[in-house]
Amino acid sequence: MIDGALGEGGGQIIRTSLALSMVTGRPVRIHRIRAKRKKPGLLRQHLTALNAAVEICNAEVSGNELGSGALTFRPGAIRGGNYTFRIGTAGSTSLVLQTLLPALMVADEPSEIVIEGGTHNPFSPPFTFLEKVFAPLINRMGPALELKLEQHGFYPAGGGRMIAQINPCRKMQHLNLMGRTPHPELSATALCCGIPETVGERELKKLGSILDIPKEQLMAQRVKANGAGNALMCAVSEENITELFTEYGERGVTAEQVAIKLAREVKEHLNADVPVGPHLADQLMIPMAMAGAGSFRTTAPTLHSTTNLEIINRFYDHNMLFEQESELVWRFEVR
Ligand code: ATP
Repeated sequence: MIDGALGEGGGQIIRTSLALSMVTGRPVRIHRIRAKRKKPGLLRQHLTALNAAVEICNAEVSGNELGSGALTFRPGAIRGGNYTFRIGTAGSTSLVLQTLLPALMVADEPSEIVIEGGTHNPFSPPFTFLEKVFAPLINRMGPALELKLEQHGFYPAGGGRMIAQINPCRKMQHLNLMGRTPHPELSATALCCGIPETVGERELKKLGSILDIPKEQLMAQRVKANGAGNALMCAVSEENITELFTEYGERGVTAEQVAIKLAREVKEHLNADVPVGPHLADQLMIPMAMAGAGSFRTTAPTLHSTTNLEIINRFYDHNMLFEQESELVWRFEVR
């Protein structure tokens, strides 16, 4: 029995539990689902992920309803293949993929997964993060993950569409991300849909001036989507890894304020001199646990990361820990 109120008390407990239930074949019961959120229980995004997981491994399930506060999930064999999942709101397509990917990375056959919903949402990995940051690292661990964005989807209109092609592997390989080259390259993109192009240009100008990013590395991109949206993303690239930080424009917040907020995040990352940022940290823990070994340096673990660690520990007997190395630097290790 997993308590959905522990630690962060949010949706990640469901995703990690389902993902590792599928991978290990161990059934799970979760109660007090998303107990620490204003609107507890399963939202559309979590329900889509649950039903998708049921389909992919022919699971027995109960509690798969909107708003449900408890669920049981007994997985069968994982079946790769072609699937389409529609969230039906702007709920995050990345988070649905996050639930299914671990199982499909070690399935017996390849998969092509189409997911419709939001692709660039606050509080979840933007598609661009999966494409530029997460997929290249997964590809170094054995599986081949290729991602395509067919249409952007912003909150609240949604309507985005992504495709993930997964070629599984038998055994995940270790990955160690301990160091960083001294001068990573910075670049930034402003996505704009249904808002004046000058907003993206102002965001880039401000971000570029604070972080000293050369003009040719600043790109304003007008995109098509069902509704308006604006995302400002800054990539920190080096030989071993690309990290990506994102902020979203919203009504009542100036373009310059969006840029200042993003610059602060990027500076924090650069100052710590670590390869792995706080979001990537919680997302790398599952594949590293599946590999049975791995390590990275990052900043102080977030509540997301410590909660994820607790859930992963329910499925594996590995020795997994975060250890503080200096004021700003922490090491995560699976042994
Ligand atoms: P809830 O509504 O219950 O909080 P949720 O299902 O929407 O939950 P969270 O539990 O908050 O989502 O998990 C969010 C996930 O998205 C985490 O893995 C986090 O690292 C990731 N994430 C959030 N923001 C970013 C970002 N800017 N870039 C990359 N990943 C991100």
